[in-house]
Parts: sequence; C-alpha cells; structure tokens
Amino acid sequence: MPLVTMKQILDDAIEKNYGVGAFNINNMEQTLAIMSAADRTESPVILQASRGARKYAGPVMIYGLVQAAMKLYPKVVVSLHLDHGNEPKTCIEAMDDGWTSVMMDGSLDASGKVPANFAYNLKVTAEVVQEAHKRGITVEGELGTLGGVEDGHGADTVILTDPDQAVEFAELTQVDALALGFGTSHGAFKFKATPKLRYDIVEAVNKKAPKLALVSHGSSSVPPELVAIVNKYGGKMPGAMGVPVDQIVNSIDYGVRKINIDTDLRIAATGAIRKLFSEKPEEFDVRKYLEPAMQAMSAVVEDRMIAFRTAGKASGIGAPVSLADMAKVYKQDNAFPKMDKINAVK
Ligand SMILES: [Zn+2]
Repeated sequence: MPLVTMKQILDDAIEKNYGVGAFNINNMEQTLAIMSAADRTESPVILQASRGARKYAGPVMIYGLVQAAMKLYPKVVVSLHLDHGNEPKTCIEAMDDGWTSVMMDGSLDASGKVPANFAYNLKVTAEVVQEAHKRGITVEGELGTLGGVEDGHGADTVILTDPDQAVEFAELTQVDALALGFGTSHGAFKFKATPKLRYDIVEAVNKKAPKLALVSHGSSSVPPELVAIVNKYGGKMPGAMGVPVDQIVNSIDYGVRKINIDTDLRIAATGAIRKLFSEKPEEFDVRKYLEPAMQAMSAVVEDRMIAFRTAGKASGIGAPVSLADMAKVYKQDNAFPKMDKINAVK
C-alpha cells in the first residue's frame, strides 16, 4: 500500500470518533517499533519527522526507512508528516521529498522560538496550503503556543487558543488540521503538577468547525513506571511529568483527532538501554541493547493505539486515495486560502 495523506486517516477518525497517534521517528528502531505495533493492533498510523529528524538521519534515509517498513507491514495505513515546519521553504522541501502531510507552525516565527502574530501566522500558513493542496498534500497549522521545547523548537510562553480565532484561522487558510494550545506541553519536564486540559477550548472549536481535525501536541504521558526504570539504572529525570493518558483519551470525545507522542518513546528506550547496560556491563553488541529498546517503545505505542481507539480501524479506511485524486477534491471544494481576507488582517 502506498503512503496515504494524513487527511484520509483523520477524516476517518472524525467520522468514527477516535484519535490517531502521531509518533516521531529518527531511526530504524523507532520506525520498526511503531509500525509493528500498528500491524499488531491493525491501526492506521502517522509517522512524523521533525526538522531535527530530517537533519539527523537525512530526508532520504527517513523516507527510505518508511518505505522499507511499509514493505514489511503492507497492511498498515500510514502517512508521513513533517512535524513543526518553521517556514514555508521547509514545508515545500518535505513535499518534494515525498512527505504526504506537512505542518506549518506559524504560531512561532521562523526561528521556532518567538511567538508570532496572527497576521504572520495566516500569511505563512496560507502560502503552504496554496502549494500543498495543489499537490493533494495535507496541511496542519498551529494557533496558540504550547510551551516546552522539543528538538530546539518551542517557546517558553504558553498562549491558550482563542476558539473563535481558531475557527477564523481555519476558514481563511483552509488548513486540514489545527494544533491548539489547550494545556498540553512539549517535553518531559513541562509541568510542576498534574495538568488539567482545557476541554472547553477543544469543544468550542469542534462545535463550529466539526470537519477540522484538531491536534494535541506534547501529549506524552511520561509514565512514572518508565521514568522509574531510567532513574533506577543511573538516569536523572527527577520531577518528570506528563499528561495522564485518561485526560488525552477524554480529549478525543471533545474533538481531538491527532495526538503527538515523542517523549514517551524516548523514555522507554532510554530505560531499556540503561537497564541492559547496568545488568550486563560486559555487553557491547549494539543489537543487544537496541532490541529491548525497540520492544519497550513498541509496547508504549501499542498501549496508546488501544487507548485512543485506533486499534482495529485500519481496514475501515478504504483504498488509498492518490495525491492526484486528493488534489482534485481540493480543487472541487475550492479549499484554498482566502487571500483577499487574509491580506486585510493587520
Ligand atoms: Zn509539537
């Protein structure tokens, strides 16, 4: 099966009220861990690579890893998404590299560190939608900022999303998916106390824009049992804390469809490797410590796929819609940015 667009997966999730995990990849072990969990649970899945991942492994390697994993697991429905594109140029490069979905994060300026204003966000996001929808590629935007830094991307400021502004943003730019600031945050040290997600923000946007796929970034739960393994075997992650899985699951019922998870897999892998090093200090075969890391990551992914009700949904998505056919749909629906209105926003 070829790569599908993120829109094809998220439209199904909207229709059937479930959430889809978007898991970050940088290497073979993560890719196999995620794809094998999707295969075991018959889940559609979003693999996402950030700018940092594209720099670390290179876009050719990332794309090749995904293609190889798809050959191993031909029944898995998978989309390849650019996480946190910082400027239109980055998004267009990813489209050229074969990504079937891109995020233009115009909530921050091109440095990826400083919150940007509404007019700037509209402008850069519209530029990406204009090009992506011509090619049938999905676009995710972001309004509001999350706080927490991931891969060098992120501002310390937290700006919760204004629901009315979110609806206006989606209408003007014609994005397919929108990341909201509603209480989640990037990283493992984002909270001093257990957070309470603002479901009211998600619900308000969903009521006015039911066909817009809402996205929850920074949705790792930082499971205490996994942090405990890291700390037990010489790691130092005191005070690490995430969003409890049940809060993420609740947010699905208010309209969240895409759920970004990276930190949990990092912690699972680190704990497994530390444990192996501690118990078998004589070991130096790379496979001997990456194998348990892979298993630990895959177990986390499987848990989330079951919790988010993604499990069992792969077969219901239907035949892959080609980019060319998706482009026709965008053209028919005139799903392109409303430039006259965007230019009028100061
Ligand atoms: Zn993010």
